[in-house]
Amino acid sequence: VITLAIESSCDETSVSVLKNGRTVLSNIIASQIEQHQKFGGVVPEVASRKHIENINMVIEEALEEAKVSFDDITHVAATYGPGLVGALLVGLSAAKAIAFAKGIPLNGVNHIEGHIYANFIEHKELEPPFICLVVSGGHTHLVYMEDYGSYEVLGKTRDDAAGEAFDKVARALGLGYPGGPQIDRLAKMGNKEAILFPKAYLEEGSYDFSFSGLKSAVLNYLNSQKMKGNSISVEDVAASFQQAVIEILVEKTIACAVEKETKQIVLAGGVAANSGLRELLQNKAEEKRIDLKYPSLQLCTDNAAMIGCVGYYNYIRGYRSSLSLNGVPNLKIGEVHS
Ligand code: ATP
Ligand code: MG
Ligand code: FE
Repeated sequence: VITLAIESSCDETSVSVLKNGRTVLSNIIASQIEQHQKFGGVVPEVASRKHIENINMVIEEALEEAKVSFDDITHVAATYGPGLVGALLVGLSAAKAIAFAKGIPLNGVNHIEGHIYANFIEHKELEPPFICLVVSGGHTHLVYMEDYGSYEVLGKTRDDAAGEAFDKVARALGLGYPGGPQIDRLAKMGNKEAILFPKAYLEEGSYDFSFSGLKSAVLNYLNSQKMKGNSISVEDVAASFQQAVIEILVEKTIACAVEKETKQIVLAGGVAANSGLRELLQNKAEEKRIDLKYPSLQLCTDNAAMIGCVGYYNYIRGYRSSLSLNGVPNLKIGEVHS
């Protein structure tokens, strides 16, 4: 099966060609970060327009790099949610056009499932069941993936996503967008015990998260230091904030794995690129003799290869999407529209 996959849910236009779901022949990513940077975040209208400008070029590049033509493609996959509806529709419409013109099957893909499946591309031997911590710009989920297509959401954020908290704190520190990588870099130079920020563990036994209180605490700290005329150490704030986030993430992830009696944990989403998170989770997992896997940096953030991988597994399980499939901005994990 040769899959052509398209991702356009946010600010990356990406197209990938894959063989049998796990072998990536090409994975082209056109990022719009520069266009959005001056606004300090993604502007939906600008994103849709940029996707339209880029999509055909990126498709051509992906085919060229994979050394295949449209006639070699046997299956098409595209993200249909969650994401910005105008952005989603660009990639989904392109995928439908190809499926219709070539008379080949189409699979709409859930973007969050895509983040999880990035691990199947990176680690050829990985198979479910496992616990997955999905930490991205818009989502923070603890998922028990029992089998392909079978997901149990054990916990999720009640307010801000982990990546969103990184981006908002970075913005308050004047670090620009996206903030996660900058905080990660500065945190390495700071003292993670310098400032004690509050950690919300919520009710006993809950696997849910809450990051808005922590974000407010950082903003209050910055304001109060400013009012007192104290200078702040950006490195210490970054390190202390990052530590608060990753301690909660790691503790709940390990607790989930213990409860589900699984020896496999998987990290996914943009924040899975965070070096502090990788290190702490690795250490805690080792203590429990649990194996940890995460994708390479390029596969952590948005890309079409991970979408093609989900599409492939849906395809071989017999799923097909109709050519009237619509974008679903708030699509839930495990939810299927045809
Ligand atoms: P979603 O997948 O929830 O729809 P998204 O696609 O915008 O949202 P991703 O592309 O998965 O999100 O991830 C982007 C997020 O990852 C941003 O919030 C960014 O700040 C964060 N991020 C990237 N690298 C790092 C890092 N090294 N440390 C912390 N956060 C990071
Ligand atoms: Mg992005
Ligand atoms: Fe994403």
